[in-house]
Amino acid sequence: MRQKIVAGNWKMNKTLQEGVELAKNVNDILAKNAPKCTVILGTPFIHLTEVVKTVDSKNIKVAAENCADMASGAYTGEVSAAMVKSTGAQYVILGHSERRTYYGETDAILKEKVDLALANGLLPIFCIGEVLEQREAGKQNEVVKAQVENALFHLSADDFGKIVLAYEPVWAIGTGKTATSAQAEEIHAYIRSVIAAKYGKEVADNTTILYGGSCKASNAKELFAQPDVDGGLIGGASLKAEDFYGIIEAYN
Ligand code: PEP
Repeated sequence: MRQKIVAGNWKMNKTLQEGVELAKNVNDILAKNAPKCTVILGTPFIHLTEVVKTVDSKNIKVAAENCADMASGAYTGEVSAAMVKSTGAQYVILGHSERRTYYGETDAILKEKVDLALANGLLPIFCIGEVLEQREAGKQNEVVKAQVENALFHLSADDFGKIVLAYEPVWAIGTGKTATSAQAEEIHAYIRSVIAAKYGKEVADNTTILYGGSCKASNAKELFAQPDVDGGLIGGASLKAEDFYGIIEAYN
């Protein structure tokens, strides 16, 4: 079923103690103001176990920001999907543009990660999006289509149904420059049409597609009001409980 989701992505921020405090603060706010959407905290690996213990799972789910493209073994420094699952996290963010750009994650690598995540019972939040140059050349549709096709279209309809997509124009991430609600709607609707062409209308209608890129309390309501925008993946504004709640509140 298509869900409304507001997911935070803390990236490489917060010590363990600071992260637990942030999770506790978000949890306290939501205990008093039950969210009308699924709320997810995406945290570094080291926070997962403690954040899972800190939050009420009725109100808050937990996501890793990555997992390995190998199942287990001699891969020093890596964290497998099975390890993430064992912390109690339910989701894993995959294909974030920072991972694609700084760590060379290709569609082929991401395909492996998606398969391992699903095989271990994790739900991928799969990020796609074009860089500024591609947007200026009018190539955004072909870029996101290829990203989805190459890493996800080998999945059965059943497994595809477990994927949450996050459209994040790279030029809007951490830049303060947000896509307009019309730009977001246009490409979200396009992404849904690509899914419909492969898996049919029902699967496409049930796919949650989040927007990410400088989303904040002041623009969330308008973005989330678009028919094909099902919530947000939030970076900077997820690092303070009140700011993050300001976005969650867009659904209240
Ligand atoms: C992100 O990195 O997923 C993101 C959307 O970041 P920000 O909200 O800071 O632009």
